[in-house]
Amino acid sequence: MKCAETEILLHALLDNELDAGHVRDVEAHLAGCPGCAAQLDTYRKLQDAILAAPLRYAAPASLRHRIEGALPRRRVVLPNPGSRWSTPWEQYSRRR
Ligand SMILES: [Zn+2]
Repeated sequence: MKCAETEILLHALLDNELDAGHVRDVEAHLAGCPGCAAQLDTYRKLQDAILAAPLRYAAPASLRHRIEGALPRRRVVLPNPGSRWSTPWEQYSRRR
């Protein structure tokens, strides 16, 4: 396996997307190629930094209220009692 091919597969290796055969081939190349091994190390450090960063932010309540206020009101359609579409359980529960 050459460095160019390994470079492409490093990302898949990091994301655990390679099959066992490709993992073996990439790892064999990495064992004998300090350049590609260093590149993988750099990618791993970048991945770790991204995963450790607090990238999720909660929207302020005022934004949530504005969005909910802009949405159309939900219309609840109740089934017609005795409708042929109601289930036996629905018909039974209405009698109680
Ligand atoms: Zn290499």
